[in-house]
Amino acid sequence: MEYDAYGALPVLVERPEPDCPEDGVLVAVRASGVCRSDWHAWQGHDPVPLPQVPGHEYAGVVAAVGAAVTTRRVGERVTAPFVCGCGRCAWCAAGDAQVCPDQQQPGFTRPGSFAELVAVPAADLNVVPLPDALDFVTAASLGCRFATSYRALTAHGRVGPGDWVAVHGCGGVGLSAVMIAAALGARVVAVDVSAAALRLAAELGAETVVPGGPAAAARVREVSGGGAHVSLDAVGSAATAVASVRSLRRRGRHVQVGLLLGEHATPPLPMDLVVAQELQLLGSHGMAARDYPAMLELVASGALRPDRLVGAVVALADAGAALAAMSGPASTPGITVVRL
Ligand SMILES: [Zn+2]
Ligand SMILES: [Zn+2]
Repeated sequence: MEYDAYGALPVLVERPEPDCPEDGVLVAVRASGVCRSDWHAWQGHDPVPLPQVPGHEYAGVVAAVGAAVTTRRVGERVTAPFVCGCGRCAWCAAGDAQVCPDQQQPGFTRPGSFAELVAVPAADLNVVPLPDALDFVTAASLGCRFATSYRALTAHGRVGPGDWVAVHGCGGVGLSAVMIAAALGARVVAVDVSAAALRLAAELGAETVVPGGPAAAARVREVSGGGAHVSLDAVGSAATAVASVRSLRRRGRHVQVGLLLGEHATPPLPMDLVVAQELQLLGSHGMAARDYPAMLELVASGALRPDRLVGAVVALADAGAALAAMSGPASTPGITVVRL
């Protein structure tokens, strides 16, 4: 499935089978999540080569293995982070492939996973085997939003039991954050403009919900007795980034999870508060493959239930419509997954 111009509905086309990279694998896609980053690229907010095949969170079966790959084999059930590190630079060597300067991203820098086959480069570094218990649809919901939230709360937020965590925006990434923060023992305040999204957030573990808008930050500070220890902007807008920072208590940590693009790229953050209250502002860009096993263990044990975030499962032929639906208000809360 591809689009040949920004905003043009993606259509099913016959494409030649992708070449298997020397250091990579071809994955026969079984499921692929529909993420707002795909929508941003399709809208032209984040320029990509055209025509482009969307899709960057996927799970499937290894169909071919490049000659230089030593750890993967045909037939393995796998997933991969949306950021694929190069496997050769200092950041990849340090385990931080999520910020690799030579990173590849299926669906953005190369053809993505709304397709029967997707090529994954540097497979020894980037490909993650799936536990048997994890089905493809659930696994496909992990690669971008769930993993990003997991890392935002653990590595960046350092969330502990009893901490107040505010989550601004309860789409796929925000609902993932609500569930994970609750599983970490945090007290979660969910913020969204949609009552349906807040209902789902409450079901997934939010202790308190707050309507989105100009009064949201003050309300979060009120219900948390002085502000959140950790607050996430899971939307990626100037207003929600500012609201997230203003939701914090002294020495709190803001984690920017939603992409800030175009007119939202430089939000007017209250740097006076950052200094006076020693706030920390942190950016989170996905999660490297090496950090997946700890998260997958929590999923396999049932402590985390990403399957509960899947709102709709659609066929590949309907993936374009699912992407286009993101232009309006969410009709089904949660994550939409394409099953092949
Ligand atoms: Zn690298
Ligand atoms: Zn994504």
